[in-house]
Amino acid sequence: MRCPDHRSSASSEPDTADAAACAECARWLRASHRLDELAGQAPGPSESWTRGLMGRLDAALGEE
Ligand SMILES: [Zn+2]
Repeated sequence: MRCPDHRSSASSEPDTADAAACAECARWLRASHRLDELAGQAPGPSESWTRGLMGRLDAALGEE
């Protein structure tokens, strides 16, 4: 699988560790989980805002 596959499967099934097979995706997955935690705790950001941020994060990590 390629990174987009890792990430889509990790997003739909966060408990699976597929993404950890790739260092880039493991890093992305940690950031994703952290954002999920923050989004769950804070009353502020909406789901759509979080998705937008995730998209930007994904793009930013992909550029490295
Ligand atoms: Zn990957």
